[in-house]
Amino acid sequence: MIPVIALVGRPNVGKSTLFNQLTRSRDALVADMPGLTRDRQYGIGRVGEFPYMVVDTGGLSGEEDGVDRAMAEQTRRAVAEADHVLFMVDARDGLTPQDEAIAEQLRASGARVRVIVNKTDGLDADVVSAEFYALALGEVTPIAATHGRGVRGLMQAVREDVARDREAAGGEGEGAGDGLDVDAQQAALDDWPGIRVAVVGRPNAGKSTLVNRILGDERVVATEVAGTTRDSIFVPFTREDQDYTLIDTAGVRRRARVHETVEKFSVVKTLQAIEAAHVVIMVIDARAGLSDQDAHLLGLVIDAGRALVVAVNKWDGMDPDDREWVRSEMQRRLGFVDYARMRLISALHGTNVGHLLDDVREAHASAFVDISTPELTRLLEAAVAEHAPPLVSGRRIKLRYAHQGGQNPPVVVIHGNQTDRLPGAYKRYLENFFRRQLKLVGTPLRLEFRSGK
Ligand code: GDP
Ligand code: GDP
Repeated sequence: MIPVIALVGRPNVGKSTLFNQLTRSRDALVADMPGLTRDRQYGIGRVGEFPYMVVDTGGLSGEEDGVDRAMAEQTRRAVAEADHVLFMVDARDGLTPQDEAIAEQLRASGARVRVIVNKTDGLDADVVSAEFYALALGEVTPIAATHGRGVRGLMQAVREDVARDREAAGGEGEGAGDGLDVDAQQAALDDWPGIRVAVVGRPNAGKSTLVNRILGDERVVATEVAGTTRDSIFVPFTREDQDYTLIDTAGVRRRARVHETVEKFSVVKTLQAIEAAHVVIMVIDARAGLSDQDAHLLGLVIDAGRALVVAVNKWDGMDPDDREWVRSEMQRRLGFVDYARMRLISALHGTNVGHLLDDVREAHASAFVDISTPELTRLLEAAVAEHAPPLVSGRRIKLRYAHQGGQNPPVVVIHGNQTDRLPGAYKRYLENFFRRQLKLVGTPLRLEFRSGK
């Protein structure tokens, strides 16, 4: 699984600045999401061939009274789930009592920590770093997050730490390499047969019930992915000649061992499962309605570019008026994922669960659609003929041809001139046109534009 890196430190040391440096920034998209909680940020990034997940914890203040206590608890959980903690301090402020208090908590956590001295731009890095050795957390790494200085070297060092820790924990270890590059992670995933499906959702939405309902007897062969405390479980199964691997974040295990305490919901685990999946089944509790946390999770699925099926669960035993209300309310609030099928199910009774797998197949086929350049260009011409791009300063924007630039999600690359001046409304028109003509369901579709001269 993709390594998790947590950013910890008091406010204003530069955590969000580093977060932005480390992640592919798709904030514009995420900012549009309704009800998105921004107290903690999660992102996926890559330096060279090394992919990782970053969690900006929002900050420990070192003074844990009142409001800060909840925050501290969240941070502790992020730290517990992380492979590596980057503890950020501020070169300009020097060592503060708050830094010392946080350092103490981190030492107690037993986490792998590296001290990052930020804002060293215009300063002598060695001189300003020296005093932070007093934190007794080992090596101190100077960076300047706003300029990205030192960030590559830092991530290289983090990669080596993670590789060493995983080896010591008796993980992977086969063949050459440290298993932390893009190809190795992809190859490890591709060992699992068929369509990889992650079942995600809030606690109590009905994930375990759904997983058990889908798997039936196969749950007994459930295989655990070795190594960490935050495992999801991968379970291969076959239905109607189609192979699948179910990625279960909720725990078949939990049902198997009744006495085990109910695991707390983990965004990190959920995000890892989303990244590992081809198609995500998002389970929503019809009786609880769509919460902010649901919207947040959907934002993560969109951000990852994953195919999606929405399962509105606990449909049994609702009276017709309530059903109608829930259906229209969900449709309204899920407008931002209107490309996804919404299936009303009862995991408990099995109602529509078979159809749910049909939806997964359909979404997977859409996500991996393969379209030739002549076909895409023909569609582009049809779209332009039906509705021409606008004039810009008296000249018409020209769209000449299109080719496919990727799968899962499908990317359509459109070539022309002045494409950077295409209005958003026209881009949306094109997206809808392609989606309709190509009969894509359940997958995001990305358009990219390239301008000649
Ligand atoms: P956070 O509260 O820890 O997330 O801190 P922010 O990322 O919001 O940064 C706090 C302030 O420090 C902002 O004004 C940043 O522009 C500034 N800052 C962050 N990194 C650097 C840096 O490398 N050099 C300098 N000079 N300022 C920085
Ligand atoms: P998880 O935390 O998302 O894994 O949720 P569980 O599968 O543990 O379900 C939480 C509770 O909702 C349990 O009491 C289930 O019996 C109940 N539940 C799950 N699916 C349904 C359903 O379709 N209908 C009804 N009425 N209850 C359900």
